[in-house]
Amino acid sequence: MTTYVFDPPPPPSLAIDADTRRFPIRRIYGVGQNYDAHTREMGGDPVREAPFFFTKPSDCLAPVGRVAYPPHTNRLQHEVELVVALNQGGQNLTPAEAGAAVWGAAVGLDLTLRDLMETARAMGQPWDLSKGFDAAAAIGPLSPIADVPSLQTGAIRLWVNGSLRQTGDLGEMIWPVCELISILSRQVTLAKGDIIMTGTPAGVGTLVPGDEVEASIAGLAPLLTRVAMP
Ligand code: MN
Repeated sequence: MTTYVFDPPPPPSLAIDADTRRFPIRRIYGVGQNYDAHTREMGGDPVREAPFFFTKPSDCLAPVGRVAYPPHTNRLQHEVELVVALNQGGQNLTPAEAGAAVWGAAVGLDLTLRDLMETARAMGQPWDLSKGFDAAAAIGPLSPIADVPSLQTGAIRLWVNGSLRQTGDLGEMIWPVCELISILSRQVTLAKGDIIMTGTPAGVGTLVPGDEVEASIAGLAPLLTRVAMP
């Protein structure tokens, strides 16, 4: 039996809707600019550019109902996203194999420090901490795939203090979920416990302490959280 110098923490995990078990997390992947309108608002070309991926630390999940306002930013931004969780993995998955690897789905926020990202980009520096700070992902309870009406279509929305900020449809994804996973599996070996945040529709905006955020995707448990004072 392996002996460690300290007790390793339990794996990060997500709640499951109507189930007392939890889904253990291995890695968190994100995708940039996967909806036409958001790609244009970020200055990209939705037609020609292939999807690009980034990672977030697996332990950056915000606790339920609370996002701690991070230091070193004035532009904490919300990106509402469909999150899929895998219970199978592998390399070079076909889109059909990728679809079969999806265990469930949830509503998530890919929280982003836009000012840090833009500064890093301008200086040619890595921008991973703009996506990988403490509490950089807020994710609602997972619904098992049998309970998910569709990964291809359905309204995706986000409200801040009751005002609609983001609205779109999963059908507007440039790269549908199964294709995204298939493409990602050519770059890394995927494994059970990996989750993928699949991109955000237009309307990303800034959050300030005290904001109440509600995010929804048709057929999934909604995500409710609050930005806490620093
Ligand atoms: Mn995102």
